[in-house]
Amino acid sequence: SSQRQLLSFPFGFLLFLSSWGIMFQDITTLLLEPKAFKDTVDLFVEQYTGRGISVVAGVEARGFIFGPPIALAIGAKFVPLRKPRKLPGEVISENYILEYGSDCLEMHVGAVQPGERALVVDDLIATGGTLCAAISLLERAGAVVLECACVIELPELKGRGRLNGKPLYVLVESH
Ligand code: 5GP
Repeated sequence: SSQRQLLSFPFGFLLFLSSWGIMFQDITTLLLEPKAFKDTVDLFVEQYTGRGISVVAGVEARGFIFGPPIALAIGAKFVPLRKPRKLPGEVISENYILEYGSDCLEMHVGAVQPGERALVVDDLIATGGTLCAAISLLERAGAVVLECACVIELPELKGRGRLNGKPLYVLVESH
């Protein structure tokens, strides 16, 4: 399948020991391979074409890499979910707990209309806290969140179970 081909290409994520002593999955090596990057986007486009999605919401920062090409291909708008004090207009905010501390995501008021069908995109799901906050923001604005999509899942952290019942589509599991 195309998914298996994707797994066999030079997916070689650069793994390095971060200062916290945890393995960081770096997707920037994927971006250096134009075919691999395109295949990745195409798998998401295949999954989400024709499903009435009018909003692709991308989580800062790496959701800004994969979200916009998906949005363009499926004819949806792109809505950035940003870290605090980055968006210039009026925002709604959602705080969430991280593995180390807490964080916050913000979305522009009026970016999403009630009843719009939304997809949330990020590069990786670990504990699921970030995607959970993203879902909350969209739902508070009245959107219907259909699904979350990530390139990589760390299944051991069980983030999938924190998505308020939303389906999660991933291309790669990293154990
Ligand atoms: P979670 O909230 O699911 O615990 O963490 C996911 C968020 O943290 C995502 O926005 C993701 O970009 C970032 N993140 C956490 N660990 C990694 C990692 O190993 N690699 C990358 N690329 N992002 C990570």
